[in-house]
Amino acid sequence: EQDVAEYRKSLAIRVSGFDVPKPIKTFGDCGFSLQLMNAIKKQGYEKPTSIQCQAFPIVLSGRDIIGIAKTGSGKTAAFVLPMIVHIMDQPELEKEEGPIGVICAPTRELAHQIYLECKKFSKSHGIRVSAVYGGMSKLEQFKELKAGCEIVVATPGRLIDMLKMKALTMLRATYLVLDEADRMFDLGFEPQIRSIVGQIRPDRQTLLFSATMPRKVEKLAREILTDPVRVTVGEVG
Ligand code: ADP
Ligand code: MG
Repeated sequence: EQDVAEYRKSLAIRVSGFDVPKPIKTFGDCGFSLQLMNAIKKQGYEKPTSIQCQAFPIVLSGRDIIGIAKTGSGKTAAFVLPMIVHIMDQPELEKEEGPIGVICAPTRELAHQIYLECKKFSKSHGIRVSAVYGGMSKLEQFKELKAGCEIVVATPGRLIDMLKMKALTMLRATYLVLDEADRMFDLGFEPQIRSIVGQIRPDRQTLLFSATMPRKVEKLAREILTDPVRVTVGEVG
């Protein structure tokens, strides 16, 4: 409709891909559990941001996504909230102890912020979150991972170290997020990212977020995502 087109244009939202689920307008449209709705309320989030309105139904439907939006647009909750739903949907697995959700971010600081966001929304669900990045002793991290977790938030280098030390397995991992993909490339993490992706089952759900899409990131996205929906919010270079 004319109005919808005008509205999208005013917010500079561009969506491409086939069979794209319709965007939602409120958190109540997402089918989130009462626990999750309460956690959202506790954060003081009244309505979803633009990228969240587009991303929630896409990710909740199990599709891969490329999300391009500037800093401060609420990308973290766009992948954390559907991840909680994804984890709660998994059947109980007794033998496997590795993470179900794996999030990679370029720096310790960013990984830590994501870790805190995951904790806020996972606490009431009994979901365990482990942070895997430099600055913490490898032995401590090894022990924590051995104890088991459902979510790992990591910088690529340290996650590779932990995988080499067999601190965790990726056998349960079905939800992979590459956050700030452009910065991970700038920092030279492409080989580590490829190694991590190569250790996660191909029928996983993959989410890639970036502020920009240089050709190298585009190429990786084409290789590791399956029929992704691409959502761009705002004027992105
Ligand atoms: P990005 O990753 O896109 O840079 P963040 O996920 O860090 O953005 O979010 C930026 C800020 O907006 C954070 O302080 C976060 O808590 C807040 N935020 C996220 N979603 C919402 C929302 N729906 N309503 C209000 N604030 C939000
Ligand atoms: Mg972010």
